[in-house]
Amino acid sequence: MTDGVDWLADLDRVLLPESVLRQRVRELAQAIAADYAGKDLLVLGVLTGSFVFVADLVRALDLPLEVGFISASSYGKQSASNGQVTVLEGLWPELSGRDVLLVEDIVDSGHTLAHLRQELARRGPRSVAVCCLLDKTERREVPVTVEYLGFSVPNEFLVGYGLDYAGRFRHLPYVAALKAEAYQGKDEQSSEVLDDVGAE
Ligand code: 5GP
Ligand code: MG
Repeated sequence: MTDGVDWLADLDRVLLPESVLRQRVRELAQAIAADYAGKDLLVLGVLTGSFVFVADLVRALDLPLEVGFISASSYGKQSASNGQVTVLEGLWPELSGRDVLLVEDIVDSGHTLAHLRQELARRGPRSVAVCCLLDKTERREVPVTVEYLGFSVPNEFLVGYGLDYAGRFRHLPYVAALKAEAYQGKDEQSSEVLDDVGAE
């Protein structure tokens, strides 16, 4: 608290506590390590939301690997992407012949992942799989395959463990639901600001 302002006041409740996240990350890492033994693994995180998940996941992976990041943003209202996904060109590492594991924070409509899978395939990797921490299944607009999924989550706006609201809350060690009144009705006035934030 600073000057009597509670910076966590917009949180409704903790959905996934730190210990639950830690355990699930360990399980995912074990599954991934078993599948990628002897392969040429490149863990490719999607900035910015996946940075905490990637950091924990790779440290739990008992096999040789490289880590890279790409930057993707979708444009439109804050609570949904409209299918226009922009990928920053300069960041792509060399993918040809690599076994790429794309790591995302959350799949919602599916537009971002569907687009990224297409972009990846164009760059000639030997294989592509997706590891996603959270899945809002009921919001799906386009089908996407997620080979390694952390948790299915309800249709609420989530923050923490890398996920932000208008740039805030990424550093929370848990995943929490934002109070509906914290973002509802603010779509109109804040969409411009959120678009400016760019990378998700
Ligand atoms: P999609 O293209 O699947 O609709 O959107 C995926 C992206 O939307 C995610 O990578 C994430 O950046 C953002 N997103 C979707 N749901 C949430 C949420 O509940 N909280 C936050 N912070 N971002 C979300
Ligand atoms: Mg994202």
